[in-house]
Amino acid sequence: MIVMLLGVLSLLGCAGEPATSVPDPERPGSTATPLGAESIEPLLAALVADWTDPTAWAAHIDSTDDGFARRAEFLRGNFAQFELTMTPAGRTAPLSPARQEVLGPTAVVHAVRIDWAAPGQAPATHEIWFTVTRAEGRLRWAGTSDGPSSAPGPVPLWLRHPVDVEAGNGSTVIATRGVDPAPWLTALETARQHLVAHDLDPGPITVQLPGDPADFNAVLGIREGSHHAVAASTMPFGATAHIVINPRVGGSLAEKPRQVLLTHEAVHVVTGPLPASVPLWFSEGYADFVALADHPDVLAAHEKHLADDQRRHGVGTTLVSDRELSPDHPRIDAHYQRAWLTVRVLDRGDGTADRVHAAVRGGKSLEDALAVAGWSEQSLTVAVQDELARLVDEIP
Ligand SMILES: [Zn+2]
Repeated sequence: MIVMLLGVLSLLGCAGEPATSVPDPERPGSTATPLGAESIEPLLAALVADWTDPTAWAAHIDSTDDGFARRAEFLRGNFAQFELTMTPAGRTAPLSPARQEVLGPTAVVHAVRIDWAAPGQAPATHEIWFTVTRAEGRLRWAGTSDGPSSAPGPVPLWLRHPVDVEAGNGSTVIATRGVDPAPWLTALETARQHLVAHDLDPGPITVQLPGDPADFNAVLGIREGSHHAVAASTMPFGATAHIVINPRVGGSLAEKPRQVLLTHEAVHVVTGPLPASVPLWFSEGYADFVALADHPDVLAAHEKHLADDQRRHGVGTTLVSDRELSPDHPRIDAHYQRAWLTVRVLDRGDGTADRVHAAVRGGKSLEDALAVAGWSEQSLTVAVQDELARLVDEIP
């Protein structure tokens, strides 16, 4: 029970990131340097075309840097598992003097837009800095680590390690080699059934499974430590969002909490981000509402933790604020549980929550959608307060 409870609590703190990897004109990089004038399109086309042919591929790689030569070899294997296109983003970045010394005067760092997907999934978009050199009139790929370090941006897991792709019916798990994707694929398939039960169309869903915290940070493009307590994050990469599991927290979950986590994140993927005017308690509370529906024992653990929290800190008298749901808030677990409880109260057990969520996705304000369901912010606040008081009274 303790282990499961800890698992459940640690998954709270979902922390979707508003940032995307779509090219941003404000990011560092200049539009033209003398060495960057030539087009890198032929090299990009050749890389996409020649991954099946080791000899042809090797001719496109500048092996001056041992580390990149090894990376290029596993990238060839990774490319085989995805459909991808690469196009120049039209910007270059300065190369450090030390790297220029190593790679020679022709080396230039180009921004490249990569649209990629596992088969059957919607394309994700990343912008990756390609170091390119030229010898005997021929361009070669020489690195991926020379971009501006001030704004690293998210990178796909497959750029950092060999990966294995496991696919089911609309579900794909991309795992660092050595991390078992099977339990996640199973949980993702089950999550789809939970979504259908709430009239949500599951559609294609991709999960990225990093092998260590550094990979988790790199895939999200976040600084070290900012999401250390977060079990998973649903992050938009261009027009599609992926679920990214934090191996330090989410990676060690037992079966039930893992299921709750994945269903919660899958709700975010298929509903997309709600308008910025919608408070977080509604989107996060609803995702947990769907995720916990078929897990009465996990739900009971939530109630107990929430009752303890309210007993210690006093029963909440307002709806949960966005600030209370930020990843670094010390009581984030209890605040997520209070958000979930709020949605359970407004649902009344008759499907109201699903209808309100659908109305908000359809463009209605939350206030109007709640009004249709017979709720005002004030009446909901009072009803939640009553329910919290009941939990404090009834749960020892
Ligand atoms: Zn969430």
